[in-house]
Amino acid sequence: MTSLVLLLDPLPADTTPTHVELESTMRFVAANEPILTALDAGAGRGDGIFETLGAHDGQVRGVDAHLQRLAASAEKLDLPAPHSDQWRSAIVRVMAELPSDGQASIRLTITRGTDAAGPTCWVTGTAITAEFPERTAGVRVVTLSRGYANDVGESSPWLLVGAKTLSYAINMAALREAKRRGADDVVFTSTDGFALEGPTSSLLVRKGNTISTPAIQFGILAGTTQADLFGFLEGEGFTCDYRKIKVEELHQADAIWLVSSVRLAIPVTEVDGQTISTDLGLTGRMNAALLS
Ligand code: PLP
Repeated sequence: MTSLVLLLDPLPADTTPTHVELESTMRFVAANEPILTALDAGAGRGDGIFETLGAHDGQVRGVDAHLQRLAASAEKLDLPAPHSDQWRSAIVRVMAELPSDGQASIRLTITRGTDAAGPTCWVTGTAITAEFPERTAGVRVVTLSRGYANDVGESSPWLLVGAKTLSYAINMAALREAKRRGADDVVFTSTDGFALEGPTSSLLVRKGNTISTPAIQFGILAGTTQADLFGFLEGEGFTCDYRKIKVEELHQADAIWLVSSVRLAIPVTEVDGQTISTDLGLTGRMNAALLS
């Protein structure tokens, strides 16, 4: 597996550097070179944000959408606004060093860093050689409570539920709990009975000709893959909407997917032990559209 690390000296968002100045703010470091101090708030507290972008045959998907979400996460955490041209150039620099065919993932990270030095910023690029059998085989999910009511994003913004923070320990613990229960993945639910999202994915639910996803004001991450897929699915004649989805609706769904930037659209074959029908033809077209 090829992994690249590009370290950034973050620029204030309101500066307009020349190309040369921009390039001088970033440098590749060896993948095993330490780039954080032990005092970095990202390492010590998970205090920071990230984005993961998918790439295919040299093209990165959704750069603007990911940079917008990075900026939205920074604002939620009171971190300095990212300089979007700097991050865009960094993505281009990393992509240029990766193989020009096949899949890859690009990860953007900003930690709060240290008081003395400020935020620590870097971009990694990794060529993906693994297959994704779950794109056709699907995944079995369990519903797990997130322990919050559906309106937590509005009532308790300090819980940062709509920001893509580095604090994914809970999400990873939920995935381990799913494995313990004999499943592969998770749909988080609210304490008042609504389906939210997966630990690393957005949720799509089909009933008849309508494909729904939980609205983001209800404390979930705004998914870039879900947004791209809604464009594709509307072109296929589906009606797409954002709304509250009751957990019971999962059991009555005609199809369910977990979708995200690298794994893409994964059909759900089982919810809490109950079989869910899958549409491999449509799933295949969704993934082909994302990869095109
Ligand atoms: N929701 C959560 C909690 C995630 O971590 C992710 C991606 O990692 C998503 C949704 C899907 O977002 P995207 O489609 O932009 O990758």
